[in-house]
Amino acid sequence: MPKNRDAARANLENLYRIFTVPESPDSTLGAIDQAIAADVAGFLQTHIVAIERNLEEIETHFSSAAIPEEPTYVSEYTEFVKTHLVAQSVHTAAPGFVGHMTSALPYFMLPLARLMTALNQNLVKVETSKAFTPMERQVLAMLHHLVYRRDDDFYTPWIHNSQHALGAFCSGGTIANVTALWVARNRLFAPNGEFRGIAQEGLGRALKHRGCDGIAVLVSERGHYSFGKAADLLGLGRDNLIKVQTDDRNRIDLKALREECRRLQDRNILPLAVVGIAGTTETGNVDPLEELADFARELGCHFHVDAAWGGPTLFSDRHRPLLRGIERADSVTIDGHKQLYVPMGAGMVVFKDPTALSAIEHHANYILRYGSKDLGSHTLEGSRPGMAMLVHAGFSIIGRKGYELLIDMGVERAQTFAAMIRQHPDFELTSEPELNILTYRYCPLNVQQALAAAPARQRRVINALLDQVCQLLQKHQREAGKTFVSRTRLRIARYGEELTVLRVVLANPLTTDEILAAILTEQCEIVQQQPEIQALLRQVEDLCAPVEARNT
Ligand SMILES: *Cc1c(COP(=O)(O)O)cnc(C)c1O
Repeated sequence: MPKNRDAARANLENLYRIFTVPESPDSTLGAIDQAIAADVAGFLQTHIVAIERNLEEIETHFSSAAIPEEPTYVSEYTEFVKTHLVAQSVHTAAPGFVGHMTSALPYFMLPLARLMTALNQNLVKVETSKAFTPMERQVLAMLHHLVYRRDDDFYTPWIHNSQHALGAFCSGGTIANVTALWVARNRLFAPNGEFRGIAQEGLGRALKHRGCDGIAVLVSERGHYSFGKAADLLGLGRDNLIKVQTDDRNRIDLKALREECRRLQDRNILPLAVVGIAGTTETGNVDPLEELADFARELGCHFHVDAAWGGPTLFSDRHRPLLRGIERADSVTIDGHKQLYVPMGAGMVVFKDPTALSAIEHHANYILRYGSKDLGSHTLEGSRPGMAMLVHAGFSIIGRKGYELLIDMGVERAQTFAAMIRQHPDFELTSEPELNILTYRYCPLNVQQALAAAPARQRRVINALLDQVCQLLQKHQREAGKTFVSRTRLRIARYGEELTVLRVVLANPLTTDEILAAILTEQCEIVQQQPEIQALLRQVEDLCAPVEARNT
């Protein structure tokens, strides 16, 4: 393709044009733009080709490390995007895509996101965001109110206070969790007499000052991997992220938690924070937050709740009681890009104490000056987009009652799907849904019965074979591209061992009971049609036969 044709040649006139001339509606990009505006669901449906998603093959189109020397036409580039990117991407909005936390978006998010890009505000400072700063501060106050339910008077002195921020808006739950623990760490080692605080003197001197040998964070074994990153980043070390055992409903075991704390004490390690999870990523369960709040108070440490997934449950009158105790947390993480139905890149953390974020306050001379209302003085990230507008839009347009409906529907759908799995002769439910996430696996009824009666060693062998079945089943289903569930490995209390299970997240309001039934039907078909899976199941049957014979 000759790239040096007149219109695409690098000269001042053309450079000027790409900053000023709008895309014509009959150009390739203009046509895409219009198609998306008219019917985004239809566009995704026709343009994402779910088959032939062989990553190695796709990589060949992205293998050059050279930045193109010559400019090219927008239309030429758009063709490339259509063929090699759009067609080979994942249809996360499809109602049969129930494996991960990314769902369909309300239609208004797209034009608003476009507007956000057009305005290109930078929330790090008022000088580049103006009205966006008070708007983001309001969003944080709204979220604070959702969690802590303080009255209007409480917010008046804080919401637009130049010295403080009620929370931090960031790119996702990971940064939100890091921010929460960063604040906890800096408050534990606050300036005190001669000691100028950990932010100034570092962890080594902070530990010496307190006379301890380390600090630890306690979270259940279902805790999100972001806490591992936080432990690394904040200098605790991953060894000091204590993963506490869970009970048969995937909730932190309070006895085990006490036990771990005693062990820390013996090693002269200070508990920095206890973390409760409201909606575990893998199983959607909620820790006993009230009891954790009591325990954190007893220890005198920070209590953080990771409600990245489950936070919006607070909108639901019916299900809010599950999160009782969250209002006692020192900090709470909620992701906008999960159950607030905002596009990727919206995480938030709010703090009970409106002055807590001072612990990480940072100033610079050219921006973030003392007394300015710049939000960048209280965030880990620097330049940030106006994503808060999309959360604001969701709150305003969908409203509390709209979100309540979405939450209630998701929980109900998970109950329905759990009932389908329980009644199905070929599947076994491996975690009961508490919110809208569940796990299950392929395991015919007779195998379930044999497993219940089999000696431990034989059970392990059978389960190992079923793990392989599960893995192959998930892979074939993903490759077929019709529907999608994810998989993970979880310790299942019933068996006392870690198993491979299929994971389903039910947050897309367009997912119907018929689609869920079709997912199970497709899985049975895959099992029937794949010789590799059939061979594994024959081995399972052979192992089950003697157990069955003994029991008859
Ligand atoms: C998704 C999730 C996170 C991490 O959020 P990102 O937005 O992916 O960074 C943290 N905790 C829980 C419980 C989550 O579900």
